[in-house]
Amino acid sequence: EEKKSLNFIEQIIEEDLKNGKNQKRVHTRFPPEPNGYLHIGHAKSICLNFGLARQYNGKCNLRFDDTNPEKEETEYVESIKADIRWLGFEWDGEEMYASDYFDQLYEWAVKLIKEGKAYVDDQTPEEISKQRGTTKEPGKESPFRERSVEENLDLFEQMKNGAFESGSKVLRAKIDMASPNMLLRDPIMYRILNREHHRTGNKWHIYPMYDYAHGESDYIEGITHSLCTLEFEVHRPLYNWFLDQLAEGEYRPQQIEFARFNLGYTVMSKRKLLELVNEGYVAGWDDPRMPTITGIRRRGYPPAAIRRFSEIIGIAKRDNLQDVALLEHTVRESLNKTAPRVMAVLNPVKLVLTNYPEDKVEHVEIENNPEDEDAGTREMPFCRELYIERDDFMEDAPRKFFRMTPGKEVRLKAGYIVKCTEAIKDSEGNLTEIHATYDPDSKSGSGTEASMRKVKGTLHWVSAQHALDAEVRQYDRLFTVEEPTADKEKDYKEYINPESLEILKGCKVEPSLANAKPEDRFQFQRKGYFVADRFDHKPDKMVFNRTVPLRDTWAK
Ligand code: ATP
Ligand code: MG
Ligand code: MG
Repeated sequence: EEKKSLNFIEQIIEEDLKNGKNQKRVHTRFPPEPNGYLHIGHAKSICLNFGLARQYNGKCNLRFDDTNPEKEETEYVESIKADIRWLGFEWDGEEMYASDYFDQLYEWAVKLIKEGKAYVDDQTPEEISKQRGTTKEPGKESPFRERSVEENLDLFEQMKNGAFESGSKVLRAKIDMASPNMLLRDPIMYRILNREHHRTGNKWHIYPMYDYAHGESDYIEGITHSLCTLEFEVHRPLYNWFLDQLAEGEYRPQQIEFARFNLGYTVMSKRKLLELVNEGYVAGWDDPRMPTITGIRRRGYPPAAIRRFSEIIGIAKRDNLQDVALLEHTVRESLNKTAPRVMAVLNPVKLVLTNYPEDKVEHVEIENNPEDEDAGTREMPFCRELYIERDDFMEDAPRKFFRMTPGKEVRLKAGYIVKCTEAIKDSEGNLTEIHATYDPDSKSGSGTEASMRKVKGTLHWVSAQHALDAEVRQYDRLFTVEEPTADKEKDYKEYINPESLEILKGCKVEPSLANAKPEDRFQFQRKGYFVADRFDHKPDKMVFNRTVPLRDTWAK
């Protein structure tokens, strides 16, 4: 094992453990808002939070940050749970919901009111925002700031009970309208929203703001290290202010910020992903071109590769853009060790071995995975009529063309050496069939002198009568440029790759693929890594998605 240096979060954790902070516990959480599907940026956060818990024998909670009442949340809750499990992680105990803390949060808000640290403001959020001042000028105090405790308690209770219209009042923390940190200028803690919540129904008419709810939820759950993205750095004093007012004893959760993860050749904001779905650029959230976890799953990316990638890129304190070639490289590395090799002819043309007996069928033995000693071998039927790739043949080939061309020998992988004798064409000159002769002494692995003969090219093939039909979906990157949103003058959708999907029907695959199950992954030799489609693949209608081509563009 190579010894890695600690990243800055590990350094903080090890320091905390050494100092005996928070009973030497490590307890993290992953806090998604159940308002969309998770994407690969979330995967980074999942690997980080669950990974640290694993590394330090700690725990990681799954907490749905559902303080914002929205519709259809149940669908998202289920997809998020499935995505985390697919990535190979399990949360501690039951999943948590911030909405389960509404009573406790309300009680604490009442406590702050009683201590003169919070007040009801009758102004709208817009008016309040106008009084906030600038970084150079202090804000203006609200005319409602000096309300009596009794009046505040009474109004806040009425807010809770639904006496007022949505947006007509807020509860604010009374901190400092002159603070250099704008977020400490009497931030809003609660707003009135007369809206049904997916879990609490119509019980609440007020909902807590993120800054108030998040740290307190961390506190309730005993979280020790609360990791979030950099934009929350300026929120940290507020996170701590609430805890200083409300937390008892020694224990305190600590907010730590790291840089948001961005990936080239894609977009990640929920709004943009929704646009791609709604405007039909992709087939849905789980389209294999989407950067959603469900999309990359359907694309065939192994979860181990995502975890490995997350480890390789580490964490940063500055926003950065990760090279998609590195992700693809990691996916290839993982599949190279695990994916069985099979033969699939994507664009077939018939090859007839004119000197091979008409009715004979023999079986050739072939390795399942040269990278895996335990993967064993299988047999493939070989006979007179085969299929090879149309573009593995060229009639007037340049000297360096080491595939099939009249008069030159090539090897059919695990089979025989063959020599093309004739290209058969239809009346319009299109190639319909290739004729060749085979050398009966040249069978691979037979040990004969002829079998050892060096020929330049080796082609994949399938037996025409035994091959199975398949549809192959060749996916490519969804955008043609690395940063589709970099140019603010242009719509990112102008950079959509028009060739991000090519559907090939009538592909011919070797008979062993009859046993392929949805989500089984393969290397189609010489073509790339492919996965049987999670939803559309059926034994009598096989569908494979291209995960990545073989050629690696990652420059180390
Ligand atoms: P988006 O803005 O992309 O929709 P979000 O931040 O609103 O994402 P949440 O559901 O609030 O989505 O995120 C859950 C967790 O995942 C948060 O802790 C958030 O910081 C983290 N997260 C989201 N996007 C990224 C990213 N690109 N890189 C790292 N962590 C991320
Ligand atoms: Mg969010
Ligand atoms: Mg967001």
